[in-house]
Amino acid sequence: MGLTTRILLAMLLGIVVGVLFNFLSASQLLGSGVTGAIDIYLVDGLFDIAGRIFIASLKLMVVPLVLVSLICGACALSEGSRVGVLAVKTTMLYLLTTAAAITLALLMGTLFQPGEGMEGLVAGEATYEAPPSPSLKDVVINIFPTNPVEAMAAGNMLQIIVFALLMGYAVSRSGEPGRRIASFFNDLNDVIMRMVGVLMVFAPYGVFALLAKLFAQLGVDAIVQLGKYFLVVLATLLLHALGVYSLLLKLFSGLNPVELIKKMRPAMVFAFSTASSAATIPVTLATVEKRLGVDNKVAAFTVPLGATINMDGTAIMQGVATVFFAQMYGIDIGLSGYLMVILTATLASVGTAGVPGVGLIMLAMVLQQVGLPLEGIGIILGVDRLLDMVRTAVNITGDSVVSAIVAKSEGALSEETFNDRNYDSAANGGGMTVSGQYRASNG
Ligand code: ASP
Repeated sequence: MGLTTRILLAMLLGIVVGVLFNFLSASQLLGSGVTGAIDIYLVDGLFDIAGRIFIASLKLMVVPLVLVSLICGACALSEGSRVGVLAVKTTMLYLLTTAAAITLALLMGTLFQPGEGMEGLVAGEATYEAPPSPSLKDVVINIFPTNPVEAMAAGNMLQIIVFALLMGYAVSRSGEPGRRIASFFNDLNDVIMRMVGVLMVFAPYGVFALLAKLFAQLGVDAIVQLGKYFLVVLATLLLHALGVYSLLLKLFSGLNPVELIKKMRPAMVFAFSTASSAATIPVTLATVEKRLGVDNKVAAFTVPLGATINMDGTAIMQGVATVFFAQMYGIDIGLSGYLMVILTATLASVGTAGVPGVGLIMLAMVLQQVGLPLEGIGIILGVDRLLDMVRTAVNITGDSVVSAIVAKSEGALSEETFNDRNYDSAANGGGMTVSGQYRASNG
């Protein structure tokens, strides 16, 4: 069985088992003794342990992988003096896709009116304590590290990117010693990629454990109550992922969007089950390089940057939520309000890391800007977990689309790999496992 099939099966099985446990515990069909045992030993026991270890091992790879592969990438780029061009192109595309996402969300919210008839919820006891949000000035200053070790210990992606770019540039300008260091980092990069490959073997088990636990504990009451909001966000996410991305990819690069979506599926499942684009970086990077054929010198920069500053799915939630609250509270924020939402949501995504639930903090910034009550966030909290999972999958799909577009325009995309249909056969280990393309590509 190919890797994609195994991961997709694990996802389905995890959801089914989780929903089943959820139902059993709600209906008390098995008696409280058995349900209690399932909760303690399986859901909160085995599944929780396996899921957490899996996320921990994914996170473990993030910093070494980003640092080493970006040093290699920056080194290759500097030789052709393309760092600046690449950075500008990528950042512009990320901002553009985010602005498009939020505009689409505002339109969908206005069209389907999810907040209509929800006035009753306003009086509820929902509360939300917004954490203090950083100012734009701090966000900009914070991109530049004072201490590389501290940046790595904190997993501060933008600071690691700045350090790695600088180091890669210096390596490429250092003559013979630089060449020795470059060759060391290239070897190290292969080894770390192999470590990611080892991890992928356990992916189906990890995905199963995470999803079974999550769905076993997911409250469905809130989803029923906020059904319309939930559906509008979901529909917009799908429309953006399948429609807007396909259009952009076709328009800017002429590549086949169906191929991209198909090949990105395992990474999307990772994002879905971890709800963290940051923890998914190793898988996104491996998939974008090995399956889409994006050269390391582009992917090593675009993927970690995207996981941090490009959150289209999150922007969509913020757009729909803002319209939802405006309708619910009966406050008209006007055209200038909407423009403010687009601007704030786009900028907010730059300064926040891709971890679970961060979208709500960004939403607080947006609501504050347009003068809507923050308490509203408490109301949508109940449905946010599931939406977080879906939007994280959209977030990383956006990163891969932009990576492919930029790589194509830089002549750094292998169309042969992109169009290769045999990527998922068991024979090459799904193109991502230890026995797969890593070995092949590493000789
Ligand atoms: N969980 C999302 C991510 O990591 C961010 C969010 O929407 O809360 O990309």
